[in-house]
Parts: sequence; structure tokens; C-alpha cells
Amino acid sequence: MQDKKRILVIGGGYGGVWAGKILEKRFRKRDDIEITLVDKKPFHTLMTELHEVAAWRAEPESVQVSFRKIFGAQKVACIVDSIEKIDFAAKIARSKSREFPFDYVLLGTGAQPEYFGTPGVQGNCFTLWSFDDAMLIRHHLETIFEKAVEETDPAERGRLLTFVVAGAGFTGIELAGELLEYRDSMCRKHYLDPAETRVIVIEALPNILPILEEPLRRKAEAYLRRKGCELMISAPIVGAEAGKVILKERDPIETGTFIWTCGVKGTQFAAELGLPVDRRNRLETDAGLRAKKYPFVFAVGDGAGLLVDGRPMAMVVESAHRSAEAAAGNVIAAIDGAGGREFKPNYHGFMVSIGSRYGVSNAGGLKTGGFAAIGMKHLVNLYYLFNIAGINQVWEYFKHEFLNMDSGRSVVGGFFSHKLRGYWPLLLRLWLGIAWLFEGINKIGEGWLAFPSGTKSGWMFSSGVVQAGIKVADDATSTATVAAGPAVAAGTAAAGTAAGPSQLAFHNVWDWTNPILDPQAGFVHWFKKTFMDGVFSYLPFQVFQSMIVFMELGIGLVLIGGFFTWFGAAASLALCLVFTLSGMFAWNQAWFFFAAIVMMGGGGRAFGLDYWTVPLIKKWWNGRKLARRSHLYVGEPSK
Ligand SMILES: Cc1cc2nc3c(=O)[nH]c(=O)nc-3n(C[C@H](O)[C@H](O)[C@H](O)COP(=O)(O)OP(=O)(O)OC[C@H]3O[C@@H](n4cnc5c(N)ncnc54)[C@H](O)[C@@H]3O)c2cc1C
Repeated sequence: MQDKKRILVIGGGYGGVWAGKILEKRFRKRDDIEITLVDKKPFHTLMTELHEVAAWRAEPESVQVSFRKIFGAQKVACIVDSIEKIDFAAKIARSKSREFPFDYVLLGTGAQPEYFGTPGVQGNCFTLWSFDDAMLIRHHLETIFEKAVEETDPAERGRLLTFVVAGAGFTGIELAGELLEYRDSMCRKHYLDPAETRVIVIEALPNILPILEEPLRRKAEAYLRRKGCELMISAPIVGAEAGKVILKERDPIETGTFIWTCGVKGTQFAAELGLPVDRRNRLETDAGLRAKKYPFVFAVGDGAGLLVDGRPMAMVVESAHRSAEAAAGNVIAAIDGAGGREFKPNYHGFMVSIGSRYGVSNAGGLKTGGFAAIGMKHLVNLYYLFNIAGINQVWEYFKHEFLNMDSGRSVVGGFFSHKLRGYWPLLLRLWLGIAWLFEGINKIGEGWLAFPSGTKSGWMFSSGVVQAGIKVADDATSTATVAAGPAVAAGTAAAGTAAGPSQLAFHNVWDWTNPILDPQAGFVHWFKKTFMDGVFSYLPFQVFQSMIVFMELGIGLVLIGGFFTWFGAAASLALCLVFTLSGMFAWNQAWFFFAAIVMMGGGGRAFGLDYWTVPLIKKWWNGRKLARRSHLYVGEPSK
């Protein structure tokens, strides 16, 4: 038997996941290839959104995408473990308790904060370079406000309410933007005066956001200042003590919150592997991302120290992706003997959010500020999430960023985040159900199932159209039963006012019995000809009538019982749509639509059978291979 080739990816960050996806796609059907991804966490962390979690804009789950979701039912085995050492001669990676033999290894362990040897900083500051870092800041921020509000000593209160962010790169600026918003909401909550607080960004360079062009920097700077942020530029930090930041040639700053975002370097883990690294712990590689010394070892993402035009590759997501493409391409080439790949820088731009409603971006040369930049950032995130975990993760993003935003801190404000208690629409659900049920029962009473008496639905078709199953076309039926359907024929009530014009102050401003769509209109005409007079007329009238009656009864019962409510409501919408497009639905029945839409939002979970059935069905569906492969599970896949 041919030996298996084992590919090990260490680190499921932007680089590791991207490489895993490429390898999986290529080797999906190959039994001779094993792909394993090992990460300390059971989820891929959306590092670029950590500031939102740190400052309470988004919930922690919003930056976690479980590996189960990303590689569900795929060839990549995902293992939660922390690799401590690698024996390159024996080709084995080791954690505390396990060994991972490999033929090719991709190192994507990311980065960690760099303190540049500044005395006292490490140990006296927070950092923002991992999920755990974000959670530490999050809890600290909440408690510091709680402490401050009870503090009566003005100096100590001032210290507690001073927030210092060191570094004005995108991490620092994005965090400062969030802090300003969080500060405002905490001041409202604790009856504090925002003027008592200080949010300070300290930067050693003469500019903020050096990665962006001057006009965008100016916009960002102006916005931050407008929001009350103090920007100290050309202000190197030379040290720190507990509760104090020491600056060169300036007064020290007393603070309860000191967050360091000034620099990053490759991880200590990578530095201790015994491979050549640059002065920032990044693994030295060739243009194909192969580590020096071992051609079967590759580096991707922030930990790769590839020089591009003499400068180290930028530590950003696009570098992680491009390096993953080159490294994975070279693993494929080594196994299949195809041509190798080199790293090709291809940056589409940068988007920096400053709080939830403002940002600056240079996307493919399109330089914008404000709302458009934030929109761009959301689009890029959605595109990325769709690529790694499909439509399910796109929906999750919508939920986390817009729909479940209790703080209201989103670009669309709190408009989409307010939720309705399930018992409020209960009566509406029952009423909608009863309306459909009676529609069905009434039709039975009118003889829709008494087939020997002939068609009762003929009026739904154009005059002259003969439904299948009818022996003699009888035009009279089409007019005789006009009032029998769920729809009210056009204009029936409009003419029926008892009072003469002379006694009226004014005529009806709106006749609710008007059809929603004009029955003579082009589209309605086309729909009626194609579907009603076309497709449906080929159904024997017995089948057609039974179908309508049972659909109406079924929708009614489903809605009353709150059992498969979503599907009942969707069927209700579909039926309403057919009636409307056939020119048969009137404005006084439009509430059917609106009620069905409300029911699709979980109307069956309150006092309905869906409360028990939906979780069971979800669990069953989420475990199916099809659901996991297509990312069409609901919530988390259950395997
Ligand atoms: C707040 C913030 C905002 C940012 N904003 C942007 C932005 O707007 N645009 C942009 O392009 N970039 C941004 N970045 C930078 C971007 O996030 C990084 O460049 C990117 O995460 C690098 O990807 P990576 O795969 O190298 O590492 P990471 O994404 O950091 O992933 C490393 C993975 O390795 C795992 N790991 C580490 N050590 C081990 C081990 N020993 N064993 C097993 N697993 C291990 C970790 O758990 C982690 O999952 C931002 C970063 C931060 C922190």
C-alpha cells in the first residue's frame, strides 16, 4: 500500500485556515493524504474584530468561528491542542500529551506583542493580540467604571477614568474608537460626566495610522478629536509602572487602564524552534515560504519573515492569505510534482473602523471616510466569512453586528436589534391560523370537495379556460362563484354605499376592497395566463381544488398549533402571493402577508409545539453530512 502523506497545519488563524481550505480542496478525494490542523482554541479567532469585543460593542462569540463550522464534514481533522516543540529531524510535532507526525508542516502561529525592551511595560499593561486579551480588557473596563463611580477622591477617580492606548496603528486607533463609544454608554449608565474621563492615544511617530495616506489620516484624526480623544503624537513612551505611563520629556500619565498596541513580533514558540528567525522572531523563508534549513517546513501569516523588496511582509490578513496560497501551493507541488509558487503581494487596501459608525478606508484605490468605509469593512468581512464557512457564517455576522446588537452600537443603530417577546404575536398567530382554517372549511361547505357537482374553482381561471377533468366547459360557473374564494373580487364593496353623494362630506378616501394588483395589469395578466390558465389548468379540477382546500386547512392548523410555524407562514406567504398575482387578493386581506412575516421570525416558539420540535429538528439536521458540507446547518453543526 502506498504510504500516506501527512500535512500538519499548526495554528488556525487567517493563514492556517486559508492554507487548510486550499489543501482540502485539492486533496478532498485523495485517501493517500491526511490533513490535520492543530490550534490552542476550538475556534478561529477573527482578530480584526477583537477591539469590538474588548470594548463591549460585540459579544465574544462574534469573533469565534468554530473549526467544526469551517471544516465540517471535510477532510481536515481539527484538533485542539498546543504544540510545544517540533523535532524536524524526526518530523514530529509534540504537545504536552500528544505527538503529531508529519511529512509537511505549515507554521501559522501568528504573533505576540513586542515591548521593544521598554522598562516596566510588560506586566503593567493590557495587550490586544488574542481572544483572551480581548476578554481581559472587556472585564477590566466594566469593573473600572464600577469602581470609579464609587470613588470619592477626585485624583483617584480621575486616574480610574483615564484610558491610555499606546500605539496609533490600526489596532490602537480601532480600539480607541470603541473606547470612546463605550465610555459614552458607561457614563450614561453610571450618571458620570464624560468630561471627567480621558481617552488618550500615545504615538511615538509624528503621525497616526502610518499605513494610510495623509488625507485619510487627517480625517481619522479630526474624527477622534471631535469625539474627545486626546492624541499625543511624537510622544515616545519610555517606561511604565503600576498605574503610570512614563513619557519622554512630558509629564507621566496616571491611569487605571494602559493598553499597549505598539508592536508585534513572531511568537516565542516559533523563536524557540531552532529555525533561523529575523529580529522580530519571524521565520526566515524563501519566496515560496519554505523555512530555511528544511524544505518541508513552511511559514504563513504574521510569523513568516519573508522579505518583499527588502522589507518584511506586512503583518496583515492579506499577507496571511497570500503566504498561505504560496505555501499550500508548494506543498501540493511537492506531493504532486506540479510547479511551485512564490509569494505575490496583492493588497486591496485597508479599512480602519473608529467606533461603530465611522471609519476610513483605502480599498483598491478608492479612498473614503465615514459611513462608506464602515460599509466597506463589513463587506470585506462578509466576503471572508462566506469563503471560509459559507452562508451560515454570513448570517451569524449579520446577527452579531446588526441584529443582536443590544448596545445599539452598529452602523444601523438599534433599529434592527430590538426584539419582540414571543407572547406578543401569539394572538396574531392564532388569528391568522383561524382565518386560513375557516377559508378551507368554508370552501368545503361551498362544495369544493363535492366533485360530482362540478368545478367550484373555475372562477379562478380566465373565461373560456377549461380545467382538466371538466367534461363540458361551462362559462357560467366562472362568474357564479366569484365570491367563494379567499379573495374579494375587485370593487364589490366600493359601489355599495347606501348614502347618496349629496349626504357625504367626501367619498371613501381609499377602498380597501380594491385588488392589490390590477387584474388587467401586464404582469398579472402574464402570471394568470402562464400559471393559472397554463400550469394549474392542466391539473384535474379535483386535484386543484383539493390542493387549495388542504393547503388552507394545513396552514391554519400549523399556525394554530405553532408546529413548523416557519414553514406554515412561508406557505401562507406563497399562497397570498399566488392570489395577489392572479389579481384576486384585495387590500383588506394584505394583513395576511404582514402577519405571516411576523410568524416567520419564531412566532411558534411561544405557546407552540415548535418550542420542543425545533431544537430536535435542528439537532438532527445539523448532524447531517449534507448540512455540514454545504454550511447550511442552523447555528452550530452538531458533529
Ligand atoms: C485588534 C486587531 C485589529 C486588526 N485589524 C486588522 C485589519 O483591519 N486588517 C488587517 O489586514 N489586519 C488586521 N489585524 C492583523 C491581523 O489580525 C493579523 O495579521 C492576522 O491575524 C495574522 O494571521 P495569522 O494566521 O498569522 O495569525 P493569527 O490569526 O493570529 O492566528 C494564529 C493562530 O495560531 C494559534 N496558535 C498559536 N500558537 C500555537 C501553538 N503553539 N499551538 C497551536 N496553535 C497555536 C492561535 O491560537 C491562533 O489561532 C488586526 C489585528 C488585531 C489584533
